[in-house]
Amino acid sequence: MEARKIFLPEDKMPTKWYNILADIKMNPPLGPDGNPVSPDQLAPVFPMNLIEQEVSTERWIDIPEGVLDVLRMWRPSPLIRARALEAALGTPAKIYYKNEGVSPPGSHKPNTAVPQAYYNKEFGIKRITTETGAGQWGSALSFACAQYGLECRVYMVRISFDQKPYRKTMMEAWGGKCVASPSNETKAGREVLEKDPNTPGSLGIAISEAVEAAVSDTSGETRYSLGSVLNHVMLHQTIIGLEAKEQLKIAGDYPDVVIGCAGGGSNFAGISFPFVYDKINGKDIEILPVEPAACPTMTRGPFVYDHGDTAGYTPLLPMYSLGHAFVPAPIHAGGLRYHGMSPTVSQLATEGIISPRAVGQVEAYEAGVLFARTEGIIPAPETNHAIAQAVAEARRAKEEGKEKTILFNFSGHGLLDLAAYEKYFSGKMENFEISDEELEKSEAVFKDYPKPQLVKSR
Ligand SMILES: *Cc1c(COP(=O)(O)O)cnc(C)c1O
Repeated sequence: MEARKIFLPEDKMPTKWYNILADIKMNPPLGPDGNPVSPDQLAPVFPMNLIEQEVSTERWIDIPEGVLDVLRMWRPSPLIRARALEAALGTPAKIYYKNEGVSPPGSHKPNTAVPQAYYNKEFGIKRITTETGAGQWGSALSFACAQYGLECRVYMVRISFDQKPYRKTMMEAWGGKCVASPSNETKAGREVLEKDPNTPGSLGIAISEAVEAAVSDTSGETRYSLGSVLNHVMLHQTIIGLEAKEQLKIAGDYPDVVIGCAGGGSNFAGISFPFVYDKINGKDIEILPVEPAACPTMTRGPFVYDHGDTAGYTPLLPMYSLGHAFVPAPIHAGGLRYHGMSPTVSQLATEGIISPRAVGQVEAYEAGVLFARTEGIIPAPETNHAIAQAVAEARRAKEEGKEKTILFNFSGHGLLDLAAYEKYFSGKMENFEISDEELEKSEAVFKDYPKPQLVKSR
């Protein structure tokens, strides 16, 4: 019998996260005065225990028992050999995927929502604010807050709020409160609405609103939480790749190619950083973050200092960016419509350790439907981008007659994204290409900011 699923027993679940900051050098985030941000400056926004984690350079960080206990609800997640997809492609390549769609909210996001809620609770915080794009992060944080008895307030990007009403119902089911962004509740929201009342919104705008709502609560009991981009988020997600490595060991395999879709970079970091560690230590692996062609942050944007949000509240982060005011075309992969990219993922791209790719949304859905018809699971629109790249790699392996091993992260299921599939099936889905002129315009915002150094880690 040839196995399709490779399970790791609960008692073999990793008990430490891998911190890539032990192995790479980075430009520091800069505050409004142009100097590196001090932990104290972040204290109104995040609890100090998470700020300490954000700047830690310890390679291995213990996962608290109170976090492991909740993660065990669905972890370790299965690693699956995509035999039916391989057969349909007639490829000599082996394709494995890590199924992060098995969590209660249906994506990888609770891997960080749970520890973030836990650390806030430990610090004495009562309420967490956040933004959400496709609704995945808002539902993950609502779920996590329910586990630890915290209040949760979610600013949801308007286009997703309208397109995906069921995500807000999910948030409510877990006790979270969901508001369409831009909203009239915050100064940042009101400013955007004044200029463009029909704006589809963006993650950047929603971040501005959620940060403002947290820091303007004078009780000191509210903090903000971010579902991607930051170092501690990447850290929490590494449990994905650490498990996958153990599971591949059981299968007697090791990947030649590791793939993840990349919005802010967290699920990609999760699957890939443990393999980046191996690559830094001499392994020959291709590591591919995949972004949408409509929001080509790493494939077409420059490496700069820019704000993580639209209103410019966040520190300047060293990252690839299309400009903090960039509003991407309304593609269905809401979680990939972000103007920037995690600084750690960006740093690896500047050093050529990872190789970004871009995929159009029609190609992404083609691959997603092929996946559904072979492997059975209906993927999230974001996940379709990773699948499209895995399919392209498998086809190349066929052309070249190579038996390579491909590992990709299945970041989430698409059962609440069926409206987008409907559009695809009716032939009405389109690709959005953005012109060089438009990019140049949106990138003008960081023209006068300091420039990051091209740091080499070795
Ligand atoms: C949020 C989300 C993404 C994109 O976010 P990253 O931080 O880049 O991982 C990808 N896939 C799914 C299913 C998501 O919910």
